[in-house]
Amino acid sequence: MKRFIFSLILPCILFSSCNQQHSEKQSRAAFLLGTRCSFRIFDSNKQNSQNVLQKCIDTIADIDSHINVHADTSTVSIINKNAGTNRFTAVPSYLYPLFERSLFFAKKTGGACNPVLGSVIRLWNIGFDDACIPSSDSIHAALSLTDYNALLLKESGILLQQKGMKLDFGATAKGFAADEAAKIMRQNHVQHALIDLGGTIFAVGTRPDGTPWKVGIRNPLERRGKPLLSLSLVDSCVSTSGVYERFFEQDGIRYHHIIDPKTGHPVENNVLSVSVIAGSGTDADALSTACFVLGYEKAVQLLVSEFPHAEAVFICKDKTVRVTAGLKTNIKIFNPLFRLAE
Ligand code: AMP
Ligand code: MG
Repeated sequence: MKRFIFSLILPCILFSSCNQQHSEKQSRAAFLLGTRCSFRIFDSNKQNSQNVLQKCIDTIADIDSHINVHADTSTVSIINKNAGTNRFTAVPSYLYPLFERSLFFAKKTGGACNPVLGSVIRLWNIGFDDACIPSSDSIHAALSLTDYNALLLKESGILLQQKGMKLDFGATAKGFAADEAAKIMRQNHVQHALIDLGGTIFAVGTRPDGTPWKVGIRNPLERRGKPLLSLSLVDSCVSTSGVYERFFEQDGIRYHHIIDPKTGHPVENNVLSVSVIAGSGTDADALSTACFVLGYEKAVQLLVSEFPHAEAVFICKDKTVRVTAGLKTNIKIFNPLFRLAE
């Protein structure tokens, strides 16, 4: 069985022409939230940049320690163990909005992005060595434990009402973590920075020369190489969900990590990847997963009616690139095999 995990976004390639003027680049990277996280600050105050980088890493390590479903003692694992009891599990107050916002998006997307899908996600375990195709019976049983209305949030803590239910914040945690890192940067007067949490990129401010950051989106059909397209970002986040981020192959069939909550199997539709741009990383992350699950038509309806400030780029199996209205003049397609759909 082959197992793959890699990022769909290439933030670095496109800012080599960046005029750094008086600012100096300070950067750090760490493996957190199951992915490579990197932080780049462009600022003249080197000491401040170093302090901010350390705070960002510490904060994301803390988020990871609470939401890691593979660590028995994490807060989310304890919530999962307490499912079906009457014991609410306390969460740190700064983390509470991750739970609230994830539940909000589950409701808004009709469960397309559902934090209570953990029982099904654990069965497949895509991205880990023991990933496998579960039996139909086990998928059926796990699907009966995914009702997000059974997730209770109180100021004092969190409770899953049914035994066997499991939380999984894989679809929203990187966006939330990017928001927290951006908050730390802004509080510390950083004006030019890039936060890259494997597939979720938060651009703080502009490039040092005042022009927008340019972020490349990978061709989901290739593991390496030039980006398929680029888009401009200022003070906003782009999050990509795609078939090529985490997957395994068995008997020539590819099983990727985004689960259709209706079938309990990896989503099958015309979409290879969706990138959503929003002012909030949590929103961009939740919406990219939801849009991937919903497919192009339903996703655009949702964005237009409920999230008009979010924009999206869909890279589709028919080699079209489809974008929401606000992005038509904000992207550049480099790969001649793909065309912008009308
Ligand atoms: P993303 O890359 O943001 O689309 O998130 C994908 C991750 O979220 C997966 O690796 C799972 O941990 C989790 N996940 C998969 N399918 C769903 C879904 N339909 N709703 C919520 N979380 C999901
Ligand atoms: Mg997501």
